[in-house]
Amino acid sequence: MKLKDIGEFGFIERIRPDCIIRPEHIVKAIGDDAAVFKTESDRCMLLTTDMLVERVHFIRKATSPFNLGRKSMAVNLSDIAAMGGNASDAFVNIAVPDTVDLDFLEEVYRGIKHSAAEFAINILGGDTTGSRKDLVINVAVIGYVAADEVLLRSGAKIGDVLFSTGYLGNSRAGLHLLQNASEGDGFEELVQAHCLPRPHLNEGRFLATQPQVHAAIDVSDGLSSDLGHIIRESAAGARIYADRLPISDQLKTFCSRFGYDPIQYALAGGEDYTLLCTVDPRHAEAIAADFRQQFGRPLFELGEITDSGRIEWVDAAGGIHPIEPTGWNHFKA
Ligand code: ADP
Ligand code: MG
Repeated sequence: MKLKDIGEFGFIERIRPDCIIRPEHIVKAIGDDAAVFKTESDRCMLLTTDMLVERVHFIRKATSPFNLGRKSMAVNLSDIAAMGGNASDAFVNIAVPDTVDLDFLEEVYRGIKHSAAEFAINILGGDTTGSRKDLVINVAVIGYVAADEVLLRSGAKIGDVLFSTGYLGNSRAGLHLLQNASEGDGFEELVQAHCLPRPHLNEGRFLATQPQVHAAIDVSDGLSSDLGHIIRESAAGARIYADRLPISDQLKTFCSRFGYDPIQYALAGGEDYTLLCTVDPRHAEAIAADFRQQFGRPLFELGEITDSGRIEWVDAAGGIHPIEPTGWNHFKA
């Protein structure tokens, strides 16, 4: 049997038992965007790590090394954001094949340091090793959050309203444009969403300070996949409405020009790094209004948490369709 037979998440479930030997200080281990552990103070520490692998996550020749460095930080900071935390320190591991020039690596580090300076993060260390063929960049980030503010995937309650802090599907369209270089003009927002995702750290802090925000995750694999983690960890279900999906004007234009379905992009496109959150319905409207006041952008309402144990989407005519948990694997665009 190979990893692909059970998938990344099937594998994680298999190794999840027996990982915790000393539970005393652990609030959350495997199964969330970051691990959460108690400290001596009333703050919890957060630790997350994410890896970018050449030919899996990026094409070296088609990527600016500066942006690659920034993105390797951003994907980790996004996981701290999803916990409601403040990011504080980072470690950087790189595996470097002979075919990578020093100039390229220095540009990667300029990008990493640019991102670190932007979000006030120390780089405390890492590891450097050779690689046979592919460049690998692994970053780990430490953050902190007050113990009573931690946002978990497992907190969603039936009846909660589901929100996203930004547009969905832009990044996947940006990747398509990069792979088909001739089509890119006029779609800078989409390309930018893919190359330079912005971690929603401030949005995560805002959500964490609202006691009525019950759960959160960042959208790394795609709405259907990441919402799947929330409903699994919360033992719930979810319903999303196609006509409420936050689809940008550029994504609409892109899809109509090239004949794609924007709903599929929003449901299944990954790497948007917005935050999905679930909110007590009695406070949803007020929190969305506060969010708009603070950030000058909407908190997009997409649907609600249900007891169905699965994700369903509702089309414009009211038809209800189940989404397979592996929906993003079947992404056909
Ligand atoms: P994210 O997309 O937010 O980075 P992942 O889906 O990568 O989260 O990981 C889900 C959970 O599984 C996390 O708690 C992560 O730490 C854990 N995890 C992933 N890979 C491994 C591994 N090889 N060994 C142990 N835990 C893992
Ligand atoms: Mg995540």
